[in-house]
Amino acid sequence: MDIKKQYNRLVDDTLEYLTTGFARRWREQTPEERSELIEENAGDDGRPVVPSARVQENSAHPRFLQLDGVNAEVLDCTKCPLHQERRNAVPGRGPVDAEVMFIGEGPGEMEDIQGEPFVGKAGQLLTKMLSAIQLKREEVYITNVVKCRPPGNRTPLPEEVATCFPYLERQIEIIGPLIICCLGGPAANAILGSDSGISKLRGTIHLFRDIPVIPTYHPAAVLRFPEKYKRPVWNDLKMLRDYYRDIKK
Ligand code: URA
Ligand code: SF4
Repeated sequence: MDIKKQYNRLVDDTLEYLTTGFARRWREQTPEERSELIEENAGDDGRPVVPSARVQENSAHPRFLQLDGVNAEVLDCTKCPLHQERRNAVPGRGPVDAEVMFIGEGPGEMEDIQGEPFVGKAGQLLTKMLSAIQLKREEVYITNVVKCRPPGNRTPLPEEVATCFPYLERQIEIIGPLIICCLGGPAANAILGSDSGISKLRGTIHLFRDIPVIPTYHPAAVLRFPEKYKRPVWNDLKMLRDYYRDIKK
């Protein structure tokens, strides 16, 4: 199957899984296909895998303690009002030597409950989209511009982003990714210091300091309006994949 078809299938399957709990595809499967589906999508207890539970961090890495230090500060942070209603701050997840970094907007409800980034529906879609460009979730660093959930999932306020930004800057300095991908307008605007909106920013490669930045739509936007956002996100992901391959050559 060519890679575009594969991506479309992954996204469609994930959207369907997330919206119907697999019911429709399930009904159409033969018993053999059903067991394959279960194997692909379930953990040992038969429930869908929460991907971040499998993250392996490189604790022997010389910069691990630095990153761990920043993340520990985040867990106790009370610098902005977002700390008041959070259950857990969500510093980020991934190896300290990750080469690709994804930055979202802020924790949602599931993330706030689990203390892990992108574990809700948008996160499950993100995991599938990564696999379409041969990236494992475990090998990339995933975080957000604000580390505490804005009440009701509202967009974080500029003051909140500004207060939290030094944590993100330090994470970027320590990890030193080869590529940054911003998911959605707030992440792109914060990193690129712009107020242009994601539609204008996406489609080209920008720079943060000397690190290439690829902005794209947030996976939550793809979930809500797949027909509108699936294709541009695919184009951005392909750009990321090709650029990453070039740098690695
Ligand atoms: N949306 C985000 O922007 N970040 C998360 O961690 C989850 C959902
Ligand atoms: Fe601190 Fe950031 Fe949480 Fe605000 S959002 S309390 S600055 S960690």
